Amino acid sequence: LAQLFRPLDMLGMVYREIRQGLIDMEAMFRLIDTPPEVTDAADAKPLVVLGGTVRFEHVDFRYDKDRPILHGIDLTVPAGHTLAVVGPSGAGKSTLARLLYRFYDPSEGRITIDGQDISAVSQATLRRSIGIVPQDTVLFNDTIGYNIGYGRDGSTQDEIVAAAKGAAIHDFIMGLPQGYDTPVGERGLKLSGGEKQRVAIARTLLKNPPILILDEATSALDSRTEADIQATLARVSARRTTIVVAHRLSTVVDADEIAVVEAGRVVERGTHARLLAKDGLYAEMWRRQQAERETALEAA
Ligand code: ADP
Ligand code: MG
Repeated sequence: LAQLFRPLDMLGMVYREIRQGLIDMEAMFRLIDTPPEVTDAADAKPLVVLGGTVRFEHVDFRYDKDRPILHGIDLTVPAGHTLAVVGPSGAGKSTLARLLYRFYDPSEGRITIDGQDISAVSQATLRRSIGIVPQDTVLFNDTIGYNIGYGRDGSTQDEIVAAAKGAAIHDFIMGLPQGYDTPVGERGLKLSGGEKQRVAIARTLLKNPPILILDEATSALDSRTEADIQATLARVSARRTTIVVAHRLSTVVDADEIAVVEAGRVVERGTHARLLAKDGLYAEMWRRQQAERETALEAA
């Protein structure tokens, strides 16, 4: 019976979190079958990732037919590079991530990985190649070890511990009453936002995907936790093609390229320095964030 209830608990959590942005889509896909919108082509081939170059070509998208969300998105993320996506809430940032994971198909245009249209490859191979660290991580009502090991089927205890170390959560786990066997989730120990994010990072390290999607949390991580997580994420994204919905200044500054999305369009693109020099929307967002940061530091 417990086996039956676990997915039901999960669904409840998923629906509560679905409004938050990019939820833990990997978790969702294991439970709910793929949404009807998205099916494997009859002749679907396995995705072959060479370097992991991601390209959005003239992508339009709408969830509902009378409300277009994305308009003519053209973006290239060269293999191993990091693209930061910034912009106001509701601009369509998480939607870009959902399309790359093929939660939905574009209404127009296409998305390719190393030249292969993602709608022409099998979903299983696509999703195996992409890791997601969502804004808000879904935890199962199970042990913390299970919650990490879930990143890859058949992972050993040693691999789970190595991933936890990589995500800088091993010491925290060793301090728990039952270590890796401590129950977490709704009916177990409640983890903080930062701890849950580390669990998601550990899952992703186990999965070891060539392509990474990070949807950074905006919410109240204290600045030390934020700096720690930032350092961990920088390690995880090194040498992987990374698309990060970025809120943190450090992420934005270090990205190879920044795309500013507003109302479903890429309105500016470039490096931090170039966009500051351009003195447009990005420069304005940057100045506002700097001012907020200074106010926060003064208050601390
Ligand atoms: P961001 O991540 O930039 O805050 P999203 O990509 O989540 O924005 O959302 C872009 C727009 O799409 C918003 O107007 C949002 O209300 C709408 N939207 C998001 N998810 C859905 C959905 N499942 N069905 C219909 N509209 C949606
Ligand atoms: Mg979002």
